[in-house]
Amino acid sequence: MLLLDGKIASQSVKQNLTEATKKLLEQGKRAPHLAAILTGNNGASETYVASKVKTCSEIGYKSTLIRLEETVEEQELLRKIIELNNDDSVDGILVQLPLPKHISEAKVINSINPDKDVDGFHPVSVGRMVQGLDTFIPATPYGIMLMLEHYNVETKGKHAVVIGRSNIVGRPMSILLSSNLPYGNCTVTICHSHTVNLKEITLQADIIIAALGRAEFVREDMVKEGATVIDVGITRVDDASAAKGYRIKGDVDFANVAKKASAISPVPGGVGPMTIAGLMKNTMDAYIRRNLSIE
Ligand code: NAP
Repeated sequence: MLLLDGKIASQSVKQNLTEATKKLLEQGKRAPHLAAILTGNNGASETYVASKVKTCSEIGYKSTLIRLEETVEEQELLRKIIELNNDDSVDGILVQLPLPKHISEAKVINSINPDKDVDGFHPVSVGRMVQGLDTFIPATPYGIMLMLEHYNVETKGKHAVVIGRSNIVGRPMSILLSSNLPYGNCTVTICHSHTVNLKEITLQADIIIAALGRAEFVREDMVKEGATVIDVGITRVDDASAAKGYRIKGDVDFANVAKKASAISPVPGGVGPMTIAGLMKNTMDAYIRRNLSIE
């Protein structure tokens, strides 16, 4: 069984980006700059943004963190985004989701300049991805594609089953795996909460992408012998014996599924670090498009 180790694979992506940034600085150019907006005090969001900012600094990128109150008005958040759109020193804009309930996520995402849309959620980015054009791919599916590439997982002609159809994970993942890409060309089935006989479908899968957000949902009896299993899920499960009072669980019952799988990603240490690697690659791409593409 091959462990699809996101820490190792992301390290290799970050190493390349660190070297590329060093070269830019040696040439007298500035480093790529990511601006992140964090609204409210959601504990998980705090953790995600902190690790994105930390990774920027490890690679040598500049980062700016803008914190807004939970009660911030939608107009104020939109004004902030327009300010960042117009700031030539900013290459990528990230608005950490979820947003407080009174703010429209769609409006906020639509207000980001597509040239700086490093999360790849803007309809322009999504449309370009669907058409196979150069674009920003949402960080989590991008990270999974980078993981498949790092471990050279054969995808061509395979049956991939994606569980979950969200705009940030399941849907774009299904598009990428079905696209004519080096780690695509799968036949894809996309499943969701109305899927009937899910187990019958997953048992036919050569590749399973579990992105539904239910701890240890994918059990051994749902997985074909030799399948590749990628676990996207992150669920906090109460555990009094853990230092923080909870443990992070994936969507896959790792211990038992690992006995059957030919390759499997763990949680934590799998897709999580790859997501950050995907974001960092998008930020470098944004920088290159905006600053170097006309040289
Ligand atoms: P989401 O928006 O809640 O979407 C979940 C999807 O799963 C929905 O399409 C839902 O179907 C489907 N689903 C729910 N229960 C199901 C069931 N019993 N059978 C089949 N499908 C079911 O979640 P998300 O944002 O895509 O995130 C999914 C998980 O990945 C979460 O645990 C999240 O924390 C994690 N995540 C991790 C990373 C990372 O970096 N590792 C990044 C993003 C998300 P319907 O559409 O019918 O409701």
